[in-house]
Amino acid sequence: MKLVRLLANLGYGSRKQATLLCRAGRVTDPHGEVLYADDVVAHADVRVDGESLDPPQGMLLMLHKPVGYTCSTRDPGRVVYDLLPPRFRLRTPGLSTVGRLDRDTSGLLLLTDDGALLHRIIAPKSNLPKVYEAELAQPLRGDEAVLFASGTLLLESETTPLEPARLDVIDPRGARLTLTEGRYHQVRRMFAAVGNHVERLHRSRVGGLALEDLAAGEWRQLDADARARLF
Ligand code: URA
Repeated sequence: MKLVRLLANLGYGSRKQATLLCRAGRVTDPHGEVLYADDVVAHADVRVDGESLDPPQGMLLMLHKPVGYTCSTRDPGRVVYDLLPPRFRLRTPGLSTVGRLDRDTSGLLLLTDDGALLHRIIAPKSNLPKVYEAELAQPLRGDEAVLFASGTLLLESETTPLEPARLDVIDPRGARLTLTEGRYHQVRRMFAAVGNHVERLHRSRVGGLALEDLAAGEWRQLDADARARLF
């Protein structure tokens, strides 16, 4: 495929922008030799600013979502997509968040353009554990762990009880909650159901993946090893 088309298809810009990128000498082969817009190239043999090209499809990203960003594409305020390189918005199919975190929740958010993977992760039967760290307005009462683990808790306006969840007490107003489902505002509503209020919420793990050293606002592509740790 011609280089200019390959770059445009991957969202590096319009064909004109991709041509300018080549003219600027920013597109090279793996040995640093400058490539030209009309060169016929293989995906694996192209570098932009020294970096390998994004995969044509099947990207999985981990983002450390800061507080104050929404997962929507339509929100007029700050959205998580603002934290990614603009070229990702030009890709088809585009990236979608794998589930959502509230505007006021920080932490591990996955994004992918792979619809099958997205459904596999969010499917109820995946039972993927998601770990949340909650800071609470009131001290814990002491009976929350038993109630959350019971599989009998009904959230307001719902008719199906929640799946059992694990609560680890960190300190009187701090708890770690592990869920295997993802209902709307689930953590906040669970603590509201026991008369408490979540003041800060952070997701630290999804399946076998943790944020590790990824700072708020940063993202990285997950390779095959990281994907294998997810399930
Ligand atoms: N539960 C919530 O209440 N909010 C989130 O963002 C995620 C889980």
